[in-house]
Amino acid sequence: MANSGFLIKNARIFDPALKLDQKADLRIADGKIAEIGSGLKASGERTIDAAGKLLTPGFVDLHVHLREPGFEHKETIETGTRSAAAGGFTAVCCMANTHPVNDNAAITRYILEQARSKGSVKVWPIGAITKGLEGQELADIGELKEAGCVGVSDDGKTVIDNQLMRLGMEYAHSFGLPVMPHCICAQLSEGGSMHEGAVSTQLGLGGIPAEAEESIVARDIALSRLTGCHLHIAHVSTAGAVDMVRLAKNQGLRVSAEAAPHHFTLTHEACQEYNTHAKMCPPLREESDRIAVIQGLLDGTIDAIATDHAPHATVDKEVEFDQAAFGIIGSETALPLALNLVREHHMPLARLVELLTSGPMKVLGKKYGGLKVGEAADLALIDLEQEWTYRASEGHSKSRNTPFEGWKLQGKVLATWVDGKLVHE
Ligand SMILES: [Zn+2]
Repeated sequence: MANSGFLIKNARIFDPALKLDQKADLRIADGKIAEIGSGLKASGERTIDAAGKLLTPGFVDLHVHLREPGFEHKETIETGTRSAAAGGFTAVCCMANTHPVNDNAAITRYILEQARSKGSVKVWPIGAITKGLEGQELADIGELKEAGCVGVSDDGKTVIDNQLMRLGMEYAHSFGLPVMPHCICAQLSEGGSMHEGAVSTQLGLGGIPAEAEESIVARDIALSRLTGCHLHIAHVSTAGAVDMVRLAKNQGLRVSAEAAPHHFTLTHEACQEYNTHAKMCPPLREESDRIAVIQGLLDGTIDAIATDHAPHATVDKEVEFDQAAFGIIGSETALPLALNLVREHHMPLARLVELLTSGPMKVLGKKYGGLKVGEAADLALIDLEQEWTYRASEGHSKSRNTPFEGWKLQGKVLATWVDGKLVHE
């Protein structure tokens, strides 16, 4: 029995939420953390020497697109969760913009069933705010919660109607779900395919101004104040949006936020030469925005790193820039890109691990177990030093749309366990 148990020896056991940082052994049995201590003896289980390696709780990704049902040529629950496992994630929240849209219990149940039978990691669906993501009529948010959704979002689209958004937030609040909006004003971004600024002017491309994001973030913070609903701003990308989230938190509002690795790694300069692999929404912004996002991650304004893993087929990207699909894959590059923050921006490693583990769990209002005896063995074993060259073709996603192809990265996930089962090695 390959998965009956493991003894991980001499790891640096690291869980900042539990103030844990010690060299020790950890035993996995029956899907749980059975023992943590020094000099543990193997009793028939597989032993892994983890000297010099970091053992953390498994990462939780608040924002992925698994594309199933409906777009299985881009990704499936099987391949998307396999890719997540390779990135150290043990749970992912999948957005509702599938086909059909996850706006009812039958779709939620289908996703959960596929995840159970074919998934490598835990899948926590996000339901739609409005039926069909059409922004006309609310989805049955109570039904979605009942079926297993952990939040609601029309991600990919913004609910334009203010009153409908207010009602959606009132319902979500009454069912105890966070609303996780994609904040881009459709009117201000109309015809835009990248950040509006010097590079879009130079390339002659339509722009998405920072204010397209900030106007909706401001509205949604106001509606959070009005309704009491927990507002979680997806993929914050501008300095102004970070400032608004900081102010809202200082005012005691129930507002949280996530940021994506591409927004703290790249700027709109990456769109030069009409590189469609740098096209995403919200778009890559300016250097001052990138630094503001990093500052927000450091000071607690931003609660989680979320990938916005968004697989697209080659035909969706190998077209004119303004015709190309928005989004990039991100599960397998998230950790090494985040580790650059430790190396280049003095982020404490403890803060970084929080942003990938206890931070997102808190956003979801889920109980955080962490590296404690008796808790589920959801773990990531990491080599912080290993240098490697990223090749999407060697990854596990069905798609290869990434701006990081060929990048030299440092830090690699060596193994991932979900409920004690080795799902990546
Ligand atoms: Zn989005």
